[in-house]
Amino acid sequence: MSSCIEHWAKTFTLLALTVSTPSSLIAKANEGWLFLVEQVSGERLIKYVEDLVAFKTRYALSGGANFSAKYLYRYFSTLRGFNVSFHLFPLPLEDRRVGLNVVACKPGVRESAGHILLFAHYDSVSNDPYASAPGADDNASGVAVMMEAAYVMSLYDWNRTLIFTAFSGEEIGFIGSSAWAKENEDLLKNVVGGVCLDGVGRGETVSIMYADEQSKALADLTLNVSIMLGFKDFREVASVLGVEGSDSHVFLERGLKVIRLWDEDATSIHSPLDLPETLYPNRLVETCKVITATLHLLLTESFKDLYPGKTVKLKNEGARSLLLAAVLASSPTFLLIYTLLKWRKRFPSSQRWVKTTLTAYISGIDSPFIFDQPSNHKLSKDEILGSLRCRNEH
Ligand SMILES: [Zn+2]
Repeated sequence: MSSCIEHWAKTFTLLALTVSTPSSLIAKANEGWLFLVEQVSGERLIKYVEDLVAFKTRYALSGGANFSAKYLYRYFSTLRGFNVSFHLFPLPLEDRRVGLNVVACKPGVRESAGHILLFAHYDSVSNDPYASAPGADDNASGVAVMMEAAYVMSLYDWNRTLIFTAFSGEEIGFIGSSAWAKENEDLLKNVVGGVCLDGVGRGETVSIMYADEQSKALADLTLNVSIMLGFKDFREVASVLGVEGSDSHVFLERGLKVIRLWDEDATSIHSPLDLPETLYPNRLVETCKVITATLHLLLTESFKDLYPGKTVKLKNEGARSLLLAAVLASSPTFLLIYTLLKWRKRFPSSQRWVKTTLTAYISGIDSPFIFDQPSNHKLSKDEILGSLRCRNEH
């Protein structure tokens, strides 16, 4: 009897996958996933959570937030192929002080192939935020999953660019992510999918939340991956409130395909009781495996297959490219003008990229930096920038 149920469950699962994702795609992707998901380590995930909680508080207006940012900067700097930078943004009501986002970018081999964005806020909050805000589930869990996924993805080079961002200031109004998004509008035009991890360490299930039809394609994909990996606790939820309840809000607003993973467990968040011992280690491992395998698909497969019929722009790309190629081939002048226009268009965006995201490049992680200051010492943005030696990465 039970084998009969299993048989039908299996058939149903395969059918469901075939409907939304071509079976050949899944079979092909499976080969690539296996090695990657096996690299995910539960021990490391727990260690990252404990490291973050050890700062006592990561409240955005506290010194603990800066220590956490330095820890994350150090970590991402050890990973193969990642460029790491601080992104500075003004803190409200804190004259002359800035908050820090940590941006870790692994450039794709084919720069034009589109970027994938994974993000989690590292700041925490509680009713006594300067003294104790451990934020194990909210959101050391999401940051830990992002850290481990970054390690696994660092083992290979990919066609598309991966951008991992640890935002601060989520708990005081998404101010870190808002500032970063505002200064990186051009970069965001190339982002073809964004995944927000916020609270993924506890609860009965993990909700894969989306807020519009185009993002549903990304949610479908992630859910299919969880099914393929044999995990039963993931479910897809249409929830505008859920997506708007975290940094994902900022990217939804800008029309990106974006989903948020959340365990929907709010029992001890925003309190000193949000501690590592209340997390489910297996939940972290499963979430990280799902994320890693989903990233693998996003980095290796064609978006037409991954987002079937949902994105008009991508669907028409083939025909447009053919027409363009025909026009360019017909005249060397057209080719020259096209190339010049392309470069002119591209130049300001790469300048802005250098100016904003990579503003705070540090030449070495041991160089003197604001973290050596007492936490109540107020530094201006200019002072901080002055203490950083900008590095030319080439
Ligand atoms: Zn949160």
